[in-house]
Amino acid sequence: MANADVSTTSGTLDAQTGLPLRDDLRGREPYGAPQIDVPVRLNTNENSYDVPQDVALAVVEALAGQVRHLNRYPDRELTELRQELARYLGHGLDAAQVWAANGSNEVLQQVLHAFGGPGRTALGFTPSYSMHPIIASTTATGWVDGLRGTPSGAFDLDAAGVAEQVRRHDPEVVMLCSPNNPTGTALGLDVVRAAYEATDHAVVVVDEAYEEFARAGTPSALTLLPGRPRLVVTRTMSKAFALAGARVGYLAADAAVCDALRLVRLPYHLSSLTQAAAVAALRRAPSLLATVQALREQRDRVVAELSALGLQPVPSDANFVLFGGLADAAATWRGLLDHGVLVRDVGIAHHLRVSAGTPEETTAFLDALTATLDDTTPKEHP
Ligand code: PMP
Repeated sequence: MANADVSTTSGTLDAQTGLPLRDDLRGREPYGAPQIDVPVRLNTNENSYDVPQDVALAVVEALAGQVRHLNRYPDRELTELRQELARYLGHGLDAAQVWAANGSNEVLQQVLHAFGGPGRTALGFTPSYSMHPIIASTTATGWVDGLRGTPSGAFDLDAAGVAEQVRRHDPEVVMLCSPNNPTGTALGLDVVRAAYEATDHAVVVVDEAYEEFARAGTPSALTLLPGRPRLVVTRTMSKAFALAGARVGYLAADAAVCDALRLVRLPYHLSSLTQAAAVAALRRAPSLLATVQALREQRDRVVAELSALGLQPVPSDANFVLFGGLADAAATWRGLLDHGVLVRDVGIAHHLRVSAGTPEETTAFLDALTATLDDTTPKEHP
C-alpha cells in the first residue's frame, strides 16, 4: 500500500489510490446514470423500441461481410459512413462536411481536443447536458457556467442574453444544446446566430442529439451552416435511430473542421463493425425512424398528464420531459423505483426527468407517479 505522503517526480500520489492521478481528477466521481435492471427504464433517453427486424437483418448481413476482413484496420476516413450521413442530413451537405465517432460524446471530445485545451475555455448554459463540462474538464479546457433564464421561462435562452455572455466570457468554444437536455426545449435560430456573431473566433457547437423529436416547425442549426465556418452541429444515432448500443455520433460543419479533427482523433477510431452497422442502418433510415412519431405522442401525453396531476412539465422538443412541482424529488425518484420505474434525478431541486417510452411504459410511469405522490403527499387529518 503506497504511502499517501510519497511524492514522485511527476507529483504527489493520490491519497486514496496511491496513483499519480492528475490533480484535477482527484476526488471526482465518474459519469454514471444508474444502470439498474428494472421493468421500466426511462432514465437515459434511449429509444424504447427494439431495432426493427428488417434493419436488424440488414445490420447482421453487413457485419457478416466484415468479419473475415477484421485482420485489416478500418477505413480511417469513414468514407461510406460519411456519405450516408450526408445523404441523411440533406441541406446540401457533402461527405467532406460530415465527421463521425463512437457516440456524439466522442465527437464533442474531439472538438474540445482540437479547439479547447489548456489555457482555453468553453462556455455552456446551465442546466444543460452534464457531459459538456465533464468533457471540457478531461480535455483540460476551462469551463464557464453561463446562465439560463428569460422573462418567458427559467430555462429559456434569448439572443441578447447569450450574446452578452459570449462577449463577456470570450470563450474559444460555445456549447449550445437544442433541444436542450435536461430541459427539453429547442433554441430559436436567432439565439444560435447571436452566439456566432458575438465572437469572431470561437467555435459554436449546437448539440442536436434530440433534433429528430422536435415539434413541427422547429428549424435545425444545419440551415445556418452555409457561410459560418466556425459553426458545428452534432448529432447522434443513439436516440431517434435507436442505436445507442452501436455508439455512433456525428457532426456537420465546414470541411476545415473535419480536417482539424483528424489531428486529434485516434487512428482508426471507428471500428469496421461500427461503420458497417451504421451504414446498413442509415440505408433503412425510414424504417428505423418510424418510432419517432410514436415517441413524440407519448412525450406530449406525459406533458398533458403531468399538468393534469398539478405538476409543472417543461414544454419539450425531445424524447423526454423535465417536470417540476415535486415537494421532494429524491423521495419521488425512490418511490418510482420501488414501483419498478427508473427516471432521472438531474439535480434540479423539485424536478425529475423522464424519457418518453412505449405507451405501456408511459402508462406504468404515470400510474407509479400517481401512487408515489399519493404515498408521499402529507394527508390532512380532520
Ligand atoms: N448530447 C446530448 C444532449 C445527450 O443527451 C447525449 C446522451 N445522453 C449525448 C450528446 C451523447 O450521446 P451519444 O454519445 O450516445 O451520441
